[in-house]
Amino acid sequence: MPNTTAQKIFRFAPSPNGYLHLGHAYSALVNFEAARASGGQFLLRIEDIDTARSRPEFEAAIFEDLSWLGLDWQKPVLRQSTRTAAYRAALAQLQAQNLLYPCFCTRQTLAQNTAHLDPDGTAVYAGRCKHLPKAEQVRRMSFEAHALRLDMTRASQSRLIWQDGAQTIPATPEIWGDIILARKDIGTSYHLAVTLDDAAQGVTDVVRGQDLFASTHIHRLLQHLLGLPTPRYQHHALLRDAEGEKLAKSRTSSPLRLWRAEGASSGDVRKMIGLTER
Ligand code: GLU
Repeated sequence: MPNTTAQKIFRFAPSPNGYLHLGHAYSALVNFEAARASGGQFLLRIEDIDTARSRPEFEAAIFEDLSWLGLDWQKPVLRQSTRTAAYRAALAQLQAQNLLYPCFCTRQTLAQNTAHLDPDGTAVYAGRCKHLPKAEQVRRMSFEAHALRLDMTRASQSRLIWQDGAQTIPATPEIWGDIILARKDIGTSYHLAVTLDDAAQGVTDVVRGQDLFASTHIHRLLQHLLGLPTPRYQHHALLRDAEGEKLAKSRTSSPLRLWRAEGASSGDVRKMIGLTER
């Protein structure tokens, strides 16, 4: 649904592969309250493309925990698992621009990869499958499991920028190398799905953790290649505990529902994550 008004649209987009913790509560509340303050909309999107890791009980827990925090959101909720056709269409669009190539590498052949690391600490793809003859690509694609990679050199020819809060950021997607846009197992990827869905839902403001900052270089590139609008971005610092540890490593990474079971109120949660009580 395109955003034809000046209304701001925010979203919180968790993956139902675990219980929400305080870091999620922070992101969800910040988005929800920014939407309220601007008279805009708050969407909840369920990012369940990874069918092996997504579970209905985690999705149900997301709804329950966010309601407990006092949030409400537009219904029906969009689930990425219903968007396969849109992801396929976008891949076809990129294929038509000759920007994708099939990658048949297995875990073993990827392990021989000696290139430098990407921002997630994964080896940048060294290009083993990049120069396979077209006929061999086509032949093997008909029977062999394969991922689809973006040919980054061809794709990143334009100078692009995006806004992160008040800052203008030059896009440097090339730091990721030839990223996978369609995984072997699920036929899409986080980067493709999130970019398409933000556009399809008319999201104007993406507020999310700093851990996704570097991914935005890819999202900006995909918007350019697919003719999609670019939202405003804001990447917030990740919550740390009193000792300065990232939440994931400390007691504060406990699921919200555990805090609740131990008698904490949603107001207590707000205090723990540094938001004022309401
Ligand atoms: N689904 C992603 C996650 O749970 C967040 C995606 C996003 O905010 O862009 O980490």
